[in-house]
Amino acid sequence: MVTSRLSLKLSGPLLRWYDTARRDLPWRTSDGSPPPAYHVLVSEAMLQQTQVATVIPYFHRFISSFPTIHALAGADEQDVLRLWQGLGYYSRARNLRNTAIVICEVYGGVVPRDVSALLTLPGVGRYTAGAIASLAYDVPAPIVDGNVIRVLCRLEAITDDPKERETVQRLWDIAAQVVPKKRAGDFNSAMMELGATVCTPRNPSCLICPVRGICRAFETQQQQTIPKPKVTRVTPIVERWVMCIRRADGAWLVERRPLKGRWAGLWQFVTFDARPSNFPTDAITVRHALTHRRYVFNAAVFDVSDASLPEPRHGITREWKTPDQMQAVAFSRPHLIIRNRLID
Ligand code: SF4
Repeated sequence: MVTSRLSLKLSGPLLRWYDTARRDLPWRTSDGSPPPAYHVLVSEAMLQQTQVATVIPYFHRFISSFPTIHALAGADEQDVLRLWQGLGYYSRARNLRNTAIVICEVYGGVVPRDVSALLTLPGVGRYTAGAIASLAYDVPAPIVDGNVIRVLCRLEAITDDPKERETVQRLWDIAAQVVPKKRAGDFNSAMMELGATVCTPRNPSCLICPVRGICRAFETQQQQTIPKPKVTRVTPIVERWVMCIRRADGAWLVERRPLKGRWAGLWQFVTFDARPSNFPTDAITVRHALTHRRYVFNAAVFDVSDASLPEPRHGITREWKTPDQMQAVAFSRPHLIIRNRLID
């Protein structure tokens, strides 16, 4: 069996390395014991598509506002979104709150430890279920994320495209075989930590790697070409025109986006797809990149008498809000930047 070698030889050196090299992160405990499942749930939701360093202050603020799963389940959605403001991918925040509600209503406020139960929760997929079960409860459940994919591909010298369905399934199978019965949570954390700090996408630090001796990519000097580098695609640029409209009493006209789609339910200044005829040439620009497109937001301040507005598109509602009222609701990240640059 291709992975019996790894099953026997990987966990020992990896866990010894992890015991000395593990980073101190707010969702980990200082003594190495399993963290509260609620903290794992929150941190895993935040860490999807987001760097550790970005998540740390958000995690602190979130946990101090909603210290328990009951507090999160009872929170207003706008308060949850406001604390998520700037992290992006807001469906994660909505799913997290909905998950807290389900856990309180169905599981008495205790995060389930069983992977199949976890998979029924809103927004919880195979990776998150495995992470919660293993990190919080030490259940020997596998996890496969970007870091684990890279480490496993290199350890086994897998040259197939790790995005292909069969390769993904193969990696899950390997991960299931190598996760040990004891210290499963530490093992999974160690795999991710190794990928994040040693077995990095470019120029991995093989000379200090604790598992160099069993790494086939290192043995064959393929560590720079495995996994197959991603083909970089040119992403289209999309322009938007943002009118920050101010009334004489200091209130601003803002819009709430439809409850479905990108930035669902978040607030923004009045925004158009096409340049309004009265738009000035000295607008500020805010750039915002998503996976499949790059946005350029052109924004300018208008007094209400300058602004002649077409009706908002379907599903968008408009309101006048004072600066204090704007602070109390969640804006999408580009509009938060505009708010900070033009108004605060
Ligand atoms: Fe990654 Fe190099 Fe370690 Fe292999 S030896 S797992 S390529 S860091």
